[in-house]
Amino acid sequence: MIVAGCDVGSTTGKVVIMDDGNILSHSLVPSRVICEDTAVEAMNNALEGTDLKLEDIEYIVGTGYGRVNIPFARKNITEISCHGMGAFWTSPEIRTVIDIGGQDCKVIKLEPNGKVREFVMNEKCAAGTGRFMEDTALALSLAVEELGPLSLKAASRASVSAQCSVFAETEVISLMAEKRPLEEIVAGINDAVASRLAGMVLRVGMEEQVVLSGGVSKNVGVIRFLQERMKVEFVDVSEKVDPQLMGALGAAIFARQRADKGERRTRRRRSRAENA
Ligand code: ADP
Repeated sequence: MIVAGCDVGSTTGKVVIMDDGNILSHSLVPSRVICEDTAVEAMNNALEGTDLKLEDIEYIVGTGYGRVNIPFARKNITEISCHGMGAFWTSPEIRTVIDIGGQDCKVIKLEPNGKVREFVMNEKCAAGTGRFMEDTALALSLAVEELGPLSLKAASRASVSAQCSVFAETEVISLMAEKRPLEEIVAGINDAVASRLAGMVLRVGMEEQVVLSGGVSKNVGVIRFLQERMKVEFVDVSEKVDPQLMGALGAAIFARQRADKGERRTRRRRSRAENA
């Protein structure tokens, strides 16, 4: 059975198409101004290179900030539940998911069956989010992809405020004026994000195993510094799925569950009608 999940986030749109529990195809596109356009482009990209058409997909679940504006989704489910479900698919041992997206970050605690037990979310301040990383990368004339590898080359980490992105940006400009080595400034930025995330984890308590999801989880500097602070090794899911696709993956798994439920209902109705 073919199902799909579509995650329209603040920064990127993602689609995962699954066939009988395996990932068949996926896509990741920058978000457009109109959520519907992002969803359509992400879906078209995921369908490209497969023999499938949109009509071949049995059930589609939408998630993410633009989830209510996905024209082909039959159901929408919060990104918190979807990131949890995606993480559970990669390993049923996972109990804590740290999702670092474009405009917010969340720490999600899971039950042994993959359901969300509790979560904390930071959405009021950009500090610790992908947006903050993009702004600081721009100020340093770097690409976000360079922030992780560069920070691991630093001999020491500059001190950068973890609490406020506006202060952090001012500090970065001062550090540049002081001619502090670029890698040390970048290490300071990644460490500030790690410190903010570690603080959020403390609020709900950490339970192993732990996994990172969302675009910023591709930053090897944030991964290393957060592991140091939390004194734990994160589960590496990259061989199973791009961690930025975790929400879309969870949505696809929910789509499969919904489609199965619908099929069972139809079978029950049919057999009742036959026996009448
Ligand atoms: P959303 O779902 O909110 O749209 P994503 O989970 O797609 O957000 O994350 C987007 C963020 O991921 C971007 O703002 C960017 O900072 C970050 N990002 C994406 N790719 C990388 C990478 N290779 N290294 C570091 N950061 C990255």
